[in-house]
Amino acid sequence: MRIDLHTHSTASDGTLSPAEIIVAAGAAGLDVVALTDHDSTAGWDEAVAALSSGGPAVRLVRGMEMSTIARGEDGRPVPVHLLAYLFDPAHEAFAAERRRLRAERGTRLRTMAERMAADGLPVDADEIMAAAGPSAGRPHLARALLEAGVVVSIGEAFESILAPSSPYYLDKADTDIADAITLIDRAGGVSVLAHPLARARGRLIDLDHVRELAAPARLGGTLAGIEVDHPDHNSADRSALRELASELGLITTGSSDFHGENKSTRLGENTTCPDQYAALVGQATGISVLGGRDGDGAA
Ligand code: AMP
Ligand code: FE
Ligand code: FE
Ligand code: ZN
Repeated sequence: MRIDLHTHSTASDGTLSPAEIIVAAGAAGLDVVALTDHDSTAGWDEAVAALSSGGPAVRLVRGMEMSTIARGEDGRPVPVHLLAYLFDPAHEAFAAERRRLRAERGTRLRTMAERMAADGLPVDADEIMAAAGPSAGRPHLARALLEAGVVVSIGEAFESILAPSSPYYLDKADTDIADAITLIDRAGGVSVLAHPLARARGRLIDLDHVRELAAPARLGGTLAGIEVDHPDHNSADRSALRELASELGLITTGSSDFHGENKSTRLGENTTCPDQYAALVGQATGISVLGGRDGDGAA
């Protein structure tokens, strides 16, 4: 079984539509793919429809990658991504938090675009917001800057105009990671810490904070897993995380973090072991895995 538990579609900052992700997952020989757009479930229905319309025999895990705030190695707050799988999208408190995050993303991106335009950069805030859709992020600004010829690559945009040190950059008010884990748990979902050692993206979470979030006695549910095999982790990172997961009794996952043409990673570049996948699905009580050759979505 080839299982990729982290992909992005046009419902956030990927370049393939949710239906195209399903087709591409089949073409890449995947048996299971998770759709994990940033802070949004907007792509779920289209992905489900692609499964049932005679598409390839891929199983779909509906998920999301949440923007959260954790405690950094230096004790200061740090932005951390948290993967949420198989939660009930109708759970009201969690749905309200997603609405807040979406509004937050929209305001922030528009303000960044307007600051650039006011400074004479050839970007149009309305056009960017229209192209960005439900989960507006810096990658949409990066595309606009690339298309306007201001930068020669998406990477250059992130390192210059879109970097946290840039005068155009704005923080967003993300969810506290402990609150996020509690909301995901209440909605019957499973929480997995995304790429915890991807240091090229900035400061890292304090591993003692990971231990606290995974403590069995924690009220409001616990962190269930760690994304170990990820394109931004080197082999030393992967060993360290495998050891931490084993110490804490956590599930380990592997994923591509596919973003279509917005990043160079390919679908299935990293994969999750079937036993770890089965453990993850076994903990979920929100919604089911869909699709598969036998049509029952069973793990
Ligand atoms: P935002 O959530 O709006 O701050 O944007 C962060 C997103 O931008 C990440 O989730 C990545 O998908 C993307 N990203 C961050 N750094 C880079 C980079 N150097 N090149 C391409 N995409 C990036
Ligand atoms: Fe992204
Ligand atoms: Fe991420
Ligand atoms: Zn991601």
